[in-house]
Amino acid sequence: ELESVLQNQKAQKRQESDKQWDNTDFSWSTELVSKLQSVFKMTELRPMQLQTMNATLSGRDCLLIMPTGGGKSLCFQLPALVSKGITVVVSPLVSLMEDQVMALQHFSIEAVMLNADADKSTVKYVQDAMTDPKATLKLVYVTPEKLAKSKRFMNRLEKMYEKGLFARLVIDEVHCCSQWGHDFRPDYKFLGIMKRQFPGVPLLGLTATATIKVLEDVKTILNIPDCLLLRSSFNRPNLYYQVLPKPSSQEEALNDMHDIINRNFRQQSGIVYCFSQKETAEVAEGLSKRGVRSMCYHASLPSKQRSHVHQLWTSNQIQVVVATVAFGMGIDKPDVRFVIHHSLSKSMENLYQESGRAGRDGSKSHCILYYRFADVARQSNMVFTERTGLDNLYGIVAYCIDVSGCRRSRIARHFGETWDSTDCAGMCDHCDPKIKRLCNKRDVTRLCQDVIKILNNAAATNQRVTAPKVLDAWYNKGAPTLRVKEVKVASVSRDKAERILAHMLLEGYIREDFHFTAYSTICYLLPGSRAKALLAGSAQVAMEFESKASATTSPTAETATTSVKNGKTKDVKTAASKESGVRVKPVFVNKEQ
Ligand code: ADP
Ligand code: MG
Ligand code: ZN
Repeated sequence: ELESVLQNQKAQKRQESDKQWDNTDFSWSTELVSKLQSVFKMTELRPMQLQTMNATLSGRDCLLIMPTGGGKSLCFQLPALVSKGITVVVSPLVSLMEDQVMALQHFSIEAVMLNADADKSTVKYVQDAMTDPKATLKLVYVTPEKLAKSKRFMNRLEKMYEKGLFARLVIDEVHCCSQWGHDFRPDYKFLGIMKRQFPGVPLLGLTATATIKVLEDVKTILNIPDCLLLRSSFNRPNLYYQVLPKPSSQEEALNDMHDIINRNFRQQSGIVYCFSQKETAEVAEGLSKRGVRSMCYHASLPSKQRSHVHQLWTSNQIQVVVATVAFGMGIDKPDVRFVIHHSLSKSMENLYQESGRAGRDGSKSHCILYYRFADVARQSNMVFTERTGLDNLYGIVAYCIDVSGCRRSRIARHFGETWDSTDCAGMCDHCDPKIKRLCNKRDVTRLCQDVIKILNNAAATNQRVTAPKVLDAWYNKGAPTLRVKEVKVASVSRDKAERILAHMLLEGYIREDFHFTAYSTICYLLPGSRAKALLAGSAQVAMEFESKASATTSPTAETATTSVKNGKTKDVKTAASKESGVRVKPVFVNKEQ
């Protein structure tokens, strides 16, 4: 208890000290505001920008955690103008740096990028400026490799430091130094020496990754244990989050997706994220065939083709980019109205980042994820070799199989924030007043025990089972040797049975086990660490199920159609949303109990 009291006091102190960064009576405050307006032509700062600028200008090491599009760059670009000397910016991607340098030059700010192919005259110009107190150069962008590999550049930095001209070291996308993050760059590890080499230079790390694990790792790697953590909320109030059941065949999935795009997002820009490069090609073709102008984008395309696709999309000549996660950093289209995940992404972090490319202009936008149990094994096959791959994946599976909780609160919890459900304001499929779901909790202990019995039987007879085989055996189908006499034929629909398996996986009643073959990896199911307790009757499992889906007809509801596909009844309601005029189509899948 004492510990929690101490922790509370600490947190309180931290909040109080955060407050001091709000002030506008620092020696630089007047110049800061006047340059914001005269140079950047912006009227005011956004949340956390002022605090960050004040802290870094005071010489504090800081980590700024701010969602994509929040305006992290300005937090060092503006201070660079009011500081003596040069700000060095490390960034993982040449294209990101090019964009920023161009934007700065547009504002008549002297900024240069140095990478492996910089020409001699640029290199000379930068090197001279670095030690010249009268130089007008304000920002130098470098790749981490440049710092790691060019002794010459390091020597220059030392001279610059000795002359008191090393204003600040900025590390953009700072999560790249952690292996726990989602895009680890080995060269970023080298940045750990910078604090030792230049102890007097304030370091400013920027990221949109907020998980505690990554942040702690970053602090350790960069040798900044006492740095100030500055964060702005991750809530994106204009994004509507939704999970839809993914049809089992690709054709049906494409029809469904086309239907949604056509009804709600005609003529509007969007991104569809897929699981694999092959799938991006399939989906882009499928959508194009159905009349939605789409092109695919992935890392194996030649870079010329990639920028071509990007450019066609930015200029609205194509409507949709169908992409792998390679379509990411550096995308800055403001009017993306929808991001659809055709397949499960590999973590909450990824989902948030990828969905977050929608609605940067602040208008209502939709983030839709298609979930299907079979996609879990596809993803786990890919991520199980990563240190926290499966944990991260199960985090997003939990998000998907939740039938009632606010999607937004789940995202908040993931980023260590708490938002009231009122913060959602009906902007997720579970809070939306136009979608009414009735859920009830059921004890599924016996059903889960049956699953364990099937797995134990397989193990006892030296058979390996994949999830579909377990389901078959449960329905008394498939290989007779896998069926178990004392197990009653599953009394729930296949969808529910799949949800039960997913839940058991998340709770440790079963686990995945991976085997390599010559061409692929196969994912088998085994009893998990809590299986024994379950069979012994000392663990109870309760799950929430959707009992009936009913919709209140809102005054704006337009049409209601009912179509029968594969024996499943699908009620589709279309309603016009008042705020943005976007037609919302909540989809209900009414499954028989
Ligand atoms: P991040 O790096 O956090 O993803 P950026 O630094 O790229 O975000 O900024 C996103 C957009 O917001 C840019 O177009 C930038 O010009 C704009 N922006 C940043 N700060 C402000 C501000 N105070 N006022 C208006 N626009 C801003
Ligand atoms: Mg950025
Ligand atoms: Zn909600």
